[in-house]
Amino acid sequence: MKKIGVLTSGGDAPGMNAAVRAVVRAGIATGAEVFAIYEGYQGMVDGQGWIRRMAWQDVGGILYKGGTLIGTARCNDFRERHGRLRAARNLIEHGIDNLVVIGGDGSLTGANIFRQEWSGLLDELVERGELPYELAQEHRELTIVGLVGSIDNDMWGTDISIGADTALHRITDAVDAISSTAASHQRSFVVEVMGRHCGYLALMSAIATGADWVLIPEAPPNLDEWENKMCAVLKNGRENGRRDSIVIVAEGAQDRYGNEITCGYVKQVLEERLQEDARVTILGHVQRGGSPSAFDRNLSTLMGAAAIDAIMSDKFIGQATLIGLKGNKITHTPLEECLENTKAIGEAIKTCNFERAMELRGNGFREAFQTVRTLVRAIPHDPLPGQKQRRIAVINSGAPSPGMNTAVRAAVRLGLDKGHAMFGIYNGFAGFADDEIEELNWMSVNGWAYLGGSELGTNRHIPANSDFYKIARGIEENNIEGLLIIGGWSAYVSALELYQRRNNYPAFNIPIVCFPATIDNDLPGAELSVGADSALNSIIDAVDKIKQSAVASKRVFVVEVMGERCGYLALMSALATGAERVYLHEEGMRLTDLAVDVELLVSGFKQGKRLGVIIRSEDANETYTTDFMCALLEEEGGDYFTARKAVLGHMQQGGNPTPFDRILATRLGAKCISYLEEQIGAAEPVSACIGLQSGAFRFTEFHDMQRQMDMENRRPKHQWWMELRPIARTMSNGRNHTGDPSLPKALTDES
Ligand code: ADP
Repeated sequence: MKKIGVLTSGGDAPGMNAAVRAVVRAGIATGAEVFAIYEGYQGMVDGQGWIRRMAWQDVGGILYKGGTLIGTARCNDFRERHGRLRAARNLIEHGIDNLVVIGGDGSLTGANIFRQEWSGLLDELVERGELPYELAQEHRELTIVGLVGSIDNDMWGTDISIGADTALHRITDAVDAISSTAASHQRSFVVEVMGRHCGYLALMSAIATGADWVLIPEAPPNLDEWENKMCAVLKNGRENGRRDSIVIVAEGAQDRYGNEITCGYVKQVLEERLQEDARVTILGHVQRGGSPSAFDRNLSTLMGAAAIDAIMSDKFIGQATLIGLKGNKITHTPLEECLENTKAIGEAIKTCNFERAMELRGNGFREAFQTVRTLVRAIPHDPLPGQKQRRIAVINSGAPSPGMNTAVRAAVRLGLDKGHAMFGIYNGFAGFADDEIEELNWMSVNGWAYLGGSELGTNRHIPANSDFYKIARGIEENNIEGLLIIGGWSAYVSALELYQRRNNYPAFNIPIVCFPATIDNDLPGAELSVGADSALNSIIDAVDKIKQSAVASKRVFVVEVMGERCGYLALMSALATGAERVYLHEEGMRLTDLAVDVELLVSGFKQGKRLGVIIRSEDANETYTTDFMCALLEEEGGDYFTARKAVLGHMQQGGNPTPFDRILATRLGAKCISYLEEQIGAAEPVSACIGLQSGAFRFTEFHDMQRQMDMENRRPKHQWWMELRPIARTMSNGRNHTGDPSLPKALTDES
């Protein structure tokens, strides 16, 4: 039987608990013994009660908690060989030769050194008579799996680290709040965000909040007199009607010669050169705190489960491997390579080799930086000589989705920046047929970066009959040369309706791009649509509260979430809240399933269970409705529990977009404008939908897009997230597996 130790080390990060829970539960479920090592490396060095075998229930109720409940510490002893020697002895005492280390680059550096020395440490212990030779031989190989737990997202080898998304939530909440007070007083605010030598949090929060200037360590202002440039941009913004100015400064910001740029200095510059009232806010540790976001809960869960898979597969015995995420795929990279590249970025920044630093951060980072540089400008600069001005229209269609405004803002501003005329079509395709088209300017979309809903107006109207003629006329009269359609399923169907009529209506023979914006995440060509992350966070906020109420009164809740026939929101929210059971249309629902679940719930409550949460996708089954399920549970629960329903409804479509959605919307918007530019000039213009596919933005031409659509069920034929169902099952009740006696015999309390 494998024995696995798990620890959290270094700076804490929201999501660490979810990762520990996943390691423990996936480990137990696959027949391993899992030990939590409390207080990071200190617990490993001190041994004894700091290393404890974990049972299934020991990690119950921690998924939604911030920080790390098994504790973390900075441990100087572990930096020395004598400390690591004690740590090795303590591990072997418990039979542990597999370690999952959740921490930042410091912790993972320590882990790597520990693995390199392992054999030597065992020899020394044998020599000293502290370890029997046979035992040392049994544990010759130490296997290490690293998960990056750090809000800074400063580690090479993964697109994103555990905690960074939650930190962005904290930052955007704070900056949104600051913006409203700043706007009231026409003030400037200088906001310092964390990140040590990595500008990720600063850059992404600048995109997400629509900040006016950002300073990051990897790309300092490339002018000696950058202060003048910054002030000119801010002044320009004021003259064009902006009421607030927000400057985001990364903790490690510096100028091109490596001199630190502090918030105090930026404030002084603003006050002296602009005669403005400027205030400094250093966000500090709020960025680390609080409940993890939906994304971080699921990221941690997937990474934790992947760590166990890696250990159990025996493919990485005696190695140190980093689990990363690229797009929506888990990756395995030698830890050493990740540490070397991370170190190289640090060196590049220190030696002012910024080109190299940006290169190592990757294309996504560089592109995000370019986008933010354009978006901060108050007014577009003159088009480059020889650049053709195009006329591009933007429309929202389908149900409202958080992030639609962000997308329109990005597309309009980036289009204007390149010298194009940008038009807004109001009220979806109904408005299009009624000629509700207006030219937009830079300030028309001011403040839209963080606004939920759709300022252009949106509805599910799909053009039919005389609409086609009217829309064609609208396109011709306004000389529209390209169309960006931002929306959900009906937006895509509408696009196809126009496309299929392009022979009858030559006006439709223009490039059209479909941009995925729906909370349902049910669109072809895109693994993630804008709005789904916001909806997921609304759901987990609601379910966290529902759970508290359920515990108080011994209740089972059936929570109905949106998604029509697509179970994405249901599955991902079940994963993020630890719901016991999830029902999806894709899997269908049978009476026998319900009977088994009722049985498990009843026996669970008999054994002292206090709450139950079942998540049901709204169209999971026409006959077994939410009301039916509730009635069934209420009847069968008898004296043990009562049942209630919670239909979350339209709150899922509302609210301001999360940072993830804002960033995705902005980056997709930028790509769409470039694509339309290319296609407008082409001899045979192509129409396509855009989306994230395996970590890259790709365009899928309309004929392929159509082939990928399951028209009857209004969802893509292939849905990548269906592969996550076994993990959701394992985490909630281990029902996939056998083995450990601590496995629940019935659906157990919480999650
Ligand atoms: P983070 O993991 O968040 O980067 P630190 O850099 O503080 O945090 O590292 C956390 C712990 O990892 C340290 O207190 C120490 O115990 C261990 N550690 C860090 N660097 C090394 C190293 N070079 N050798 C051995 N242990 C290290």
